[in-house]
Amino acid sequence: MDTYLPELAEADLRGYCGLYCGACDALLATARGEEEALARAWGRPPKDVRCWGCRAELTAACCRSCDIRRCARQRTLDHCGLCASFPCQQLRAFAEAPPHHCDGIANLERMKRVGRRQWLEEQHHRWSCPGCSRPASWYDQRCDCGTQLSGYHEAGEDGAL
Ligand code: SF4
Ligand code: SF4
Ligand SMILES: [Zn+2]
Repeated sequence: MDTYLPELAEADLRGYCGLYCGACDALLATARGEEEALARAWGRPPKDVRCWGCRAELTAACCRSCDIRRCARQRTLDHCGLCASFPCQQLRAFAEAPPHHCDGIANLERMKRVGRRQWLEEQHHRWSCPGCSRPASWYDQRCDCGTQLSGYHEAGEDGAL
């Protein structure tokens, strides 16, 4: 597990939609104390950026207004993969863009098969630098240690959710 961000090992970073919140720039900036710099880059106030994942008390503005999150919570579902309508039209539309959304449905199917703990371990592994274990975001192509990463190539307008 990452030596810079031990909080990631403790948090429940499962997005209701199947995204792994631990690879989100907002959460990584919050964990590193860099949310003001990210807020400037995104042209948003810091309160819109600070986030510990969409299940946490402290969530970014995009999580607070997320229809998928709201829908799953209203249905008292642990995640969308447990919904009778899964994968619903909203979830399929969500998967179309930006690139980091594309794995959401497969991630939920995987989570159902292997369970929460293993899924989180797999995602920690997928979104960590193989050279130094530093957490990586969805669009990182190179770690600060110099290791090549395998993040998505095309970001959305601002790389945000
Ligand atoms: S898109 Fe919505 S459900 Fe998915 S991680 Fe973000 S806030 Fe959570
Ligand atoms: S209807 Fe769609 S968005 Fe709502 S909980 Fe079910 S799968 Fe998730
Ligand atoms: Zn590294």
